[in-house]
Amino acid sequence: MGNEKATHPSSAMHRRTQHAKTKIVATVGPACQSPDLLRKMVTTGVTIFRLNFAHGVNDEKTERVSDIRNIADELGTPVAILGDLGGPKIRLGELPNGMVEVESSTRYAFVREADPGDLTTFTTTYEGLINDLQLESRILLADGAVSLRVIEKDKDKVVCNVVQAGLVRSGQGVNIPDIELRVPSITDKDRIDIQWMLAHGIDLIGLSFVRSGNDIRELRRIIEKYKPVQKPRIVAKIEKPEAVKRLNEIVAEADAIMVARGDLGVEVDIVRVPGIQKEIIRTCNRHGVPVITATQMLDSMERNRMPTRAEASDVANAVLDGTDAVMLSGETAIGAYPLEAVRMMANIVTEVEPLVQSREELPIEGSLGNAALQTTRAIALCAMHAAKQLDAHRIVVVTRSGKTALAVSGLRNAMPVLALTESSETARWLCIAWGVSAVVTDACEGTPQRLIAFIEDWGRQTHALEQGDRVVLVGASDWEKTEKDLLLVHTIT
Ligand code: PGA
Ligand code: MN
Repeated sequence: MGNEKATHPSSAMHRRTQHAKTKIVATVGPACQSPDLLRKMVTTGVTIFRLNFAHGVNDEKTERVSDIRNIADELGTPVAILGDLGGPKIRLGELPNGMVEVESSTRYAFVREADPGDLTTFTTTYEGLINDLQLESRILLADGAVSLRVIEKDKDKVVCNVVQAGLVRSGQGVNIPDIELRVPSITDKDRIDIQWMLAHGIDLIGLSFVRSGNDIRELRRIIEKYKPVQKPRIVAKIEKPEAVKRLNEIVAEADAIMVARGDLGVEVDIVRVPGIQKEIIRTCNRHGVPVITATQMLDSMERNRMPTRAEASDVANAVLDGTDAVMLSGETAIGAYPLEAVRMMANIVTEVEPLVQSREELPIEGSLGNAALQTTRAIALCAMHAAKQLDAHRIVVVTRSGKTALAVSGLRNAMPVLALTESSETARWLCIAWGVSAVVTDACEGTPQRLIAFIEDWGRQTHALEQGDRVVLVGASDWEKTEKDLLLVHTIT
């Protein structure tokens, strides 16, 4: 096509085939193991793959990591990997024949040693449970479908009556929402998994059942101890009532947040989940911290080709709330329609994105409140205003750590944002940022002329820019050793 101006229909087509601005996280599992399927998931909109360390063995994950890295290289697009630690999730021990029908007329006990064949006693994976439980504590089983209440306690057992009867299975989660358990936030298995993740260059580490900012600092200390080549970012999963209470502290400490609605909906009354989701997202937006909304977004697509109306609305509403990313769990890990689920999610978010309100006026808080970041935010605002005024086609952000790109992303402007960075690590970090696509280039280190030449080339190759299109270029850089924030406008030749 050279320098010729593209005809209108084809440029419209290219613009249509652009990826969604909202990022999609897909959980890897038995339903999406083949490199071919993983590749299609990326071209359909997945920017982050989640490896769930609560399931499977780490050996299998080695292969997935190398497949994902190869696919990203082949496609020339950054793809991030989120390693999600199992954390201190308490699970039921073995039950006779793998399951027990909990009946309302029977009393059940939690004991230290299993008594095989006894249908009224349970053991768990957490040794301290009997000590931690108190009279009246609720114990939720089967994702909250079954609930018990403690009525008697002695040194070696607690006896419960049944509030809600139902079927429970071996290994299912046990949630104790009313008391602060003394279980460590980072378990011995987590420590082994962290080491594995660092050795395999995982980009983001998900910390489950976070209870305070201290949990995040502890993970950071463990990471520092191993002096990894690449320091993964920390995604704090909000799924405990304590975390909801200490939201500001956690958001200020974490690199990113996950609204982990699965366990959250058991740990707090499910009717509170929609409101808490909005509060978490608003807090993250105010702190300039990216946020992922997770769990059951297209749950019925585990079994069906089409989601329910409620699920489609849920995905769209999360985007309108201000989420950066939406996540698929069982839908892609064990579902019958993994690729269809990604496609549906991409279509839903793309459709609703034009309705996302600009967040220029959103007050900023916490970590963004410091002077350096306020400068970054001010520069981002200038770039956005200039781009709007000039009816530009792209904001191009030159970014080293990703901060300037995140600041532009946080404004939620309709204009596509291209982040140029010399760091492939930063490009993968930006896989979480709403509306940003990142390209790795050493042109960032060169003169503005070199950057402009790069953008011209990129625009031609990807058909994203045409002659006469304007781009607003912004960034902190060492251009000509000035260490200045730059803003410049360029018209594509
Ligand atoms: P999980 O976390 O899938 O690892 O439990 C997400 C959630 O609880 O929603
Ligand atoms: Mn969870």
